[in-house]
Amino acid sequence: MKRPILIHPDPRLKKVCVAVPDLSDDLRVLADDMLETMYAAPGIGLAAPQIGILQRLIVLDCVKEEDGEPRPLVMFNPEIISASDETNVYEEGCLSIPDQYAEVTRPKVVEVEWMDRDGNAQRETFGGLWATCVQHEIDHLNGKLFIDYLKPLKRQMITRKMQKLKRERARA
Ligand SMILES: [Zn+2]
Repeated sequence: MKRPILIHPDPRLKKVCVAVPDLSDDLRVLADDMLETMYAAPGIGLAAPQIGILQRLIVLDCVKEEDGEPRPLVMFNPEIISASDETNVYEEGCLSIPDQYAEVTRPKVVEVEWMDRDGNAQRETFGGLWATCVQHEIDHLNGKLFIDYLKPLKRQMITRKMQKLKRERARA
């Protein structure tokens, strides 16, 4: 089932999310809903707070090639355990900040630990778009958005655009 995606500014997007204690069928359904919502958007990552659930859960799939095999990843309690000194710049966007893009600098390679959909501990090193995406989504769990990396003026400009968008959607 698709869930509505919150649009910035929203207080729920600024909260630090709580760890998922034990896996349950409800949480698996939530993860599946998030993947469905992400693919439909379409997007390459989605964090639980973006649908108003303040728990540490993200989903992502950064396979870009049109005929590439999808690789949906579900991460409960993801944790970056190491990050490269070398950085990378990507033009980022966010499903909670539609149609706004800006360059963000982040570590180029990160090692991440998480619990998967079956409750197994996983650890993997990510590079390229995957590294950017997983860092962007984990930021969401700490109440941080990609626009928080931008200069205040640019951030305020984007926030005002989003406030306008929300007013228009509320009226529609
Ligand atoms: Zn985002």
